[in-house]
Amino acid sequence: MGNSHMGIPVAQKHCATSASEQSQYPLDSSSLRQPGIVQQDAFRSVPDRRRTERPRRRPLRVMKFGGTSVGDAACIGKVVEIIRAELRESNVVVVVSAMSGVTNKLVAAAKAAESGDRKTVARIFKELRAQHEAAASILIHSAAQQRRLTRLMKDIFREADGLSKGAILLRELTPRTLDAISSLGERLSAPLVAAALAERGVASKAIDATELIVTDASHGAAEPLTDLTRERCETRLCPVLQRGIVPVVTGFIGATRAGLVTTLGRNGSDYSATILSAALDAHEVVIWSDVDGVLTVDPRLVAGVSTIPEISYHEAAELAYFGAKVLHPKTLRPVIQSGTPIWIRNTFAPQRRGTKITPNAHPNGGGVKALSAIGNLTLIIVGGPGFIGIPDVLGRIFKTTSAVRADVLLISQSSSQNRICLVVSSSIADRVAEGLRREFASDLAFETEEHITVDSDVAIVAAVGEKLRGISGIVGRMFGALDRHDVSILAIAQGSSECSISFLVAKNDMKKALEIVHREFKLGAPACPEIAAS
Ligand code: ASP
Ligand code: MG
Repeated sequence: MGNSHMGIPVAQKHCATSASEQSQYPLDSSSLRQPGIVQQDAFRSVPDRRRTERPRRRPLRVMKFGGTSVGDAACIGKVVEIIRAELRESNVVVVVSAMSGVTNKLVAAAKAAESGDRKTVARIFKELRAQHEAAASILIHSAAQQRRLTRLMKDIFREADGLSKGAILLRELTPRTLDAISSLGERLSAPLVAAALAERGVASKAIDATELIVTDASHGAAEPLTDLTRERCETRLCPVLQRGIVPVVTGFIGATRAGLVTTLGRNGSDYSATILSAALDAHEVVIWSDVDGVLTVDPRLVAGVSTIPEISYHEAAELAYFGAKVLHPKTLRPVIQSGTPIWIRNTFAPQRRGTKITPNAHPNGGGVKALSAIGNLTLIIVGGPGFIGIPDVLGRIFKTTSAVRADVLLISQSSSQNRICLVVSSSIADRVAEGLRREFASDLAFETEEHITVDSDVAIVAAVGEKLRGISGIVGRMFGALDRHDVSILAIAQGSSECSISFLVAKNDMKKALEIVHREFKLGAPACPEIAAS
């Protein structure tokens, strides 16, 4: 990409004009003198010409903090310290999720409103108000700031009330209303984090991503419009950064050109962070969560996991696709061209290095690097004698899955093409099976045997590693180990991706399969050998 500016100080490139942006949280002079806080000049009322002339050779980092990282006052305190430490060497744009659990509650309130359940709506909003007020009262001590924040929260809850009243009256929840309601969590957390930063001497400003990220109108899964977003970031964020103010941006949300609030999809704040990074040509993105980084396998399923120091974009995308909650699956999209490194780090153990995701990670000597799995899947088998000779079966299957808007997670086909296995999420399996029965009804009118069968208790296990396909012996070794432990493989998909081999097992075998493969490829932490049973 011609206009990529990796490593070039962003403040210099994009934010060269003098700015009039004011911090929401001007500081008193004592806090301006704190060591390590480099934004001091931002609060002088008289413009300081030297500041704009002095080139800032500081990298720009977008730091995203997930729901658990801002889960309560103590967590937000940790976030503030992480940001303060980072400001010693770089400029920072902060992106925050809603406090943990808040978006779920907002969605529940919206659904309750749709069914006319006023009581539940009122109870949820009361809880949310208490949760945010409790955090604010611990974090914020300055009376002026407290007043400010209280006013802001009041406005947001008034909006919540209006939106839910509308849904209650109409007994209808449009995607647009659902987005407006579910956006409120981030609109509450961002000002809270900004105020907490100010309380610790960091000039900050909460900014609604509706002012920055321009999206299409696909409510619930909106896509950013890159050029407009870049323009907005330049005019809206650069002046803030240039004055040494830390912008605290709401994750998860954006707005259409007409200004309607949209959301990028559940857990979309990671995506917000990379969208902003691309728009600002940031140096790095750091995703702060509650895990040490990308793990070799889900620790809830296998003991003795380890953190992977570096993985490639490909590997991360493959892991995200197969259910590892590493990143929102779209996160890498905005940075593919620039190759911006993305870190995954632990807010609760910032001394640990975390995982670096780069375009081409250092190979681990070749082989399996990590495992992931998705349960709650359904295997749909289309096939049988009646299918012999029917033309274009695959085409018609895909036409059907597309018509019912189903994501097919795995597909395999016998060489005779008479038997095709599809794996889909169990939540949509009925829809898919019905669609297929309809599609082939006339072809199968005279068949007595069932030609579309459904098995709802399957799971996909995926082994991920750069260039797995090219390494001989991996498949044999993996399936050999599984066979020795009596795990049967129902279907295999290898070859479509360079860096993953995925296979289907019975849901009850999923955990066992993960343990076996994890052990076979020695993915566990060398420092934590198996703890002997006592
Ligand atoms: N708060 C939103 C959610 O829970 C977005 C996010 O956390 O990334 O889905
Ligand atoms: Mg979340």
